[in-house]
Amino acid sequence: FQQIRHIGQHHLFIPGPTNVPEEVRQAMNVPQQDMRAPDFGEFTLPLFAGLKRIFRTTDGAVMMFPGSGTGAWEAAITNTLNPGDKVLMARYGQFSTLWVKMAEMLGLEVICVDVPWGAGVPVKEFGRILGRDKDDEIKAVFVTHNETATGVLSDVEAVRRIMDECFHDALLFVDGVSSVGSVDFRMDAWGVDLAVTGSQKGFMMPAGLGILAVSPKAMAASKIATMRRAYFDFADMLAMNRDGYFPYTPPTPLLHGLKAALALIEAEGLENVIARHHRLAEGIRRGVRAWGLDLVAEHRSLYSDTVTAVRVPEGVDAREVLRIAYDDFGASFGSGLARLAGKVFRIGHLGAFNDGMALTALALAELSLVRAGASVPMGAGVAAAQAYFADAAGGQGYAV
Ligand code: PLP
Repeated sequence: FQQIRHIGQHHLFIPGPTNVPEEVRQAMNVPQQDMRAPDFGEFTLPLFAGLKRIFRTTDGAVMMFPGSGTGAWEAAITNTLNPGDKVLMARYGQFSTLWVKMAEMLGLEVICVDVPWGAGVPVKEFGRILGRDKDDEIKAVFVTHNETATGVLSDVEAVRRIMDECFHDALLFVDGVSSVGSVDFRMDAWGVDLAVTGSQKGFMMPAGLGILAVSPKAMAASKIATMRRAYFDFADMLAMNRDGYFPYTPPTPLLHGLKAALALIEAEGLENVIARHHRLAEGIRRGVRAWGLDLVAEHRSLYSDTVTAVRVPEGVDAREVLRIAYDDFGASFGSGLARLAGKVFRIGHLGAFNDGMALTALALAELSLVRAGASVPMGAGVAAAQAYFADAAGGQGYAV
């Protein structure tokens, strides 16, 4: 079996980095170019406009920092907050946990609500805490929109509503690393002040760009925020971006990839991209249900359309499922992170993903589960997804 791994295509079913479409790969194969050329802005300015459409913001500014999503988190925090500021956060998976850790490392005073991994952002508890904060001492509320570790999508709009009901003035930060460009996200309509993402998930590119959208309110906060920052300073970036330039060397091949990725998303239409993600995720979930296995997400209202975290049966080690998938079948699934290690594996189904890939993911997961000792009915997951795709395909094909 070791040999089989090297023949044919390796299957990438992890929730990022995601599969890069051929159009995007080819677009990145460019000679290096002069990033101070007089016409450089003609190439880059439409990229900012395209990103704004995906964040669904007309009021906000969009920035790209060479880096990854984590760098964008740091940029969001250090540009808009002050050392010792109180912020409200919740931990419900590995990524929300890491965000709390970063906030603490950067010197913020974190009010942290812990909820089970599998739950989403605790809107009511946030409401209680914000309601008691009569002097607006809490300066920012953080939401991990899609918790990639658990496959849970949280309700950002509900957090905005509860903040408004409390007449609370805090900034609303959203980690959209595994949601923006794949599922419904509305920066302006939901009153999001800072949204961050990366290039390697819904944008179907390699890692390398930390992408931020910043509301006018957050921009105003950045003018007086005293937290230390240098490389990630908004003011330097924005001043140069105005004409399409960067304060330091931008990764131009990635920008070409972004141009191609934006073109793909626009050709399909963002609404269709979102609908496709929902449809594929639903097919995957039906497959998992047919295996008789549980999701980590506690309730159907929390199901993520970009990643599904599956609990393996008692007595089966999820690490073994992953190893078998990788070694025997040339397929990568996402591992169970931190406390979910060994108990969970994840199927990433975002970005350049289609029915065939969903069915292959289910087929290879089934094989790997069975070989790892799970008694799942072979073929049941694939059949359930096929039945759903056959039914739901009409009129919802790929409008590319
Ligand atoms: N936030 C979420 C929800 C993620 O899924 C990830 C990465 O998987 C990150 C943050 C960290 O992003 P990056 O790895 O691009 O730094």
